[in-house]
Parts: sequence; structure tokens; C-alpha cells
Amino acid sequence: MVSVRYIYHSCFMVETESLLLVFDYWRDDASGTLHRRLSETHKPVYVFASHFHEDHYQPEILTWKNGLGEPVSLLLSYDIVKRRGVDKSLLKAVLRPGVAFQDEYLKVMPFRSTDIGVAVAVWLPDGTVVFHAGDLNNWYFPDDPSHLKVSVKEMEGLFLSVIREVRKKCGRVDYLMFPVDSRLGAEMCRGLSQWLKQVPTGHVYPMHCWEAESEVAEALVPLQDLYPGLEMHKREDLAINLKEMDRD
Ligand SMILES: [Zn+2]
Repeated sequence: MVSVRYIYHSCFMVETESLLLVFDYWRDDASGTLHRRLSETHKPVYVFASHFHEDHYQPEILTWKNGLGEPVSLLLSYDIVKRRGVDKSLLKAVLRPGVAFQDEYLKVMPFRSTDIGVAVAVWLPDGTVVFHAGDLNNWYFPDDPSHLKVSVKEMEGLFLSVIREVRKKCGRVDYLMFPVDSRLGAEMCRGLSQWLKQVPTGHVYPMHCWEAESEVAEALVPLQDLYPGLEMHKREDLAINLKEMDRD
């Protein structure tokens, strides 16, 4: 059994019978779900950060412990070590594209991002594949390419080459956390829809949505119709969190 809980922006908590994983922590949700679960759990905790941007990495994670007082296992992208001056001895692994990590619980394969840092595939002990994209996306800004360091064509080519690699190495992905960013306007689902054409996927958790919950939910409808077997988790999960935040 895998439970995936949306926390905030690109942060998710993934829990199995034996493990707790956290991806790209920025803030907790309004009811403090993540910190509460961390302080309760006796399971080993693995904390991933895909790149150094503040909406994906907060130095606070370096001090986290589980409910037994055991430090969490930190797996941080190479750019965080360099740009945020993190002491490598605190880390379980430095994530670099193509360099696998494995221990008694997990296998991890980092992939290239189309922005900075890495995207990560994680194999759970029962073979379930969890994928957190970080800022890996087809950042297709045709109206305003000033957002990009490369042309939209190059961006798309790079993105497609990464997802081909994902398909080759992962085969399928059971739980996918992937950016659906409303700043891309009509193209906000372009990357996700290209992913779904290439990589058989079970559950999708849109992320990096800023506060554009209803816009994103609407944009996802045609995709859900195209892949009826797919479970799209956005609407309920994010709506709950936004409601909780409204109360504050
Ligand atoms: Zn970001």
C-alpha cells in the first residue's frame, strides 16, 4: 500500500508500510501534516530535493529527525550541495543524472532536468515506481521565450529525450508527481501529455501549480478523458489544501 499526500506546491509525502519519503519540501500544509507525521513515525524517512530553488529546497530538512530521534536520510541534487554549501557528510547521497543509488530499502535513479538539478525515480521494496519530476517539464513558452535559455524547439527536444530515457529505465511509473504550471497558458499540459504518450503511468499528481488550482483542474480534464485508466489526483487533494490555507 502506498499513500501519497500532497503537502504544498511540489512537496509530497509518500508513505508505505515500512518507509516515509518526502519530496521537494518548501512549506508544510496549513495543518502541519508533514511535521506531525515526521514526529510520530518510527519508520526510516528519506528526504529528496531535486534542485536548489527555494520552492524545492529548504535547509530546514538538514535537521529533520523521525519520532525515534533518528536523522532522516537526505538525498539532494548536486547543485544544492554546490550552490547552498551543504556539508556532504550530512547526506546519504548526492544525486547526479544517471548515477544510481541503492540501499536495503530503495533504488533511486536520477534523471536530467530541463531546468536545473534532477528528476528522480524511486523503486520501493515491492517494485513500485515513484517518480518526482522536480522542474523536469516541457517549459514551452511560445509567447514569451525570454523565460528560456534555449529555443522552445530545443526545450521540447531535450524534454522528449529525457522521457525516452525514463521509459527505457523505468518501463512504467506507478505514482508520478509532475509540473502543471499555469504560467504556460494553453501549453500547461503539453509536457504531461507527452509523458503519458511515452510512459505507462498509474497515478498522476500535478504539482508546481502555484495558486491556479481551478485553471489547472480544468486543463487536466481532456487528459483524464484520453486515459480513463489513469488516476488524476489533483482536484480533491489540492482543493483540500487550499481550503485549509484559506482558514488561516
Ligand atoms: Zn520550481
